[in-house]
Amino acid sequence: MVAPSMKVKCGVSNCHYWHNNYCTAKGLEVNAMGDGHADTSDGTCCTTFKPRGQMPTAEM
Ligand code: SF4
Repeated sequence: MVAPSMKVKCGVSNCHYWHNNYCTAKGLEVNAMGDGHADTSDGTCCTTFKPRGQMPTAEM
């Protein structure tokens, strides 16, 4: 079975995984913020985000 794959454009330039406006993480986790229910894209967030300069605890 082929694993899902896609390019993820991202504007969070201070993320460890960010490079030239694209995400370089092997996997991405996105969740709803707050009460766990998103009504718009503003209600979602990238859980994979790690601040640049901080080593990830485990690669996805
Ligand atoms: S992990 Fe999330 S915030 Fe970081 S570059 Fe990828 S999509 Fe952007």
